[in-house]
Amino acid sequence: MSDLNDLYQEVILDHNRRPRNFGQLPDATRTAKGYNPLCGDRLTLYLKLDGDRIDGVAFEGSGCAISKASASLMTDAIKGQSTSSAADLFERFHQMITTPIDQPVDEDSVGKLAVLAGVREFPARVKCASLAWHTLKAALDEVPTPVKTE
Ligand code: ZN
Repeated sequence: MSDLNDLYQEVILDHNRRPRNFGQLPDATRTAKGYNPLCGDRLTLYLKLDGDRIDGVAFEGSGCAISKASASLMTDAIKGQSTSSAADLFERFHQMITTPIDQPVDEDSVGKLAVLAGVREFPARVKCASLAWHTLKAALDEVPTPVKTE
């Protein structure tokens, strides 16, 4: 990942080393599992919804640094948000991560998540970065899981 901007790389490494909201959520109202067979990343996402507000969120699992950092950043970003803002953020993140590498991304639209824009240079890593988000979507839409990136 030597092509990543140093600052961005530092943020990703930090979230990998000290993932935020890592663990179980005993009073979760929604649970979803995600699996990325290409890399072997697995995660379980827990949401505690209060009406349409995401009151609590946590995740656990095992995977590469990108998948873990992305899940950590995601949980930070959606905590306290409404389910519709979280779904909007999913769309903006998905748009960013699928933008061709030679085209600029709108970093302001995704806030801190922009640190993951660099994974576009590594197509296999895009699935690692989006796994947590697809799992979130499944939890919000209450579709059966595990969701797979393949
Ligand atoms: Zn991975």
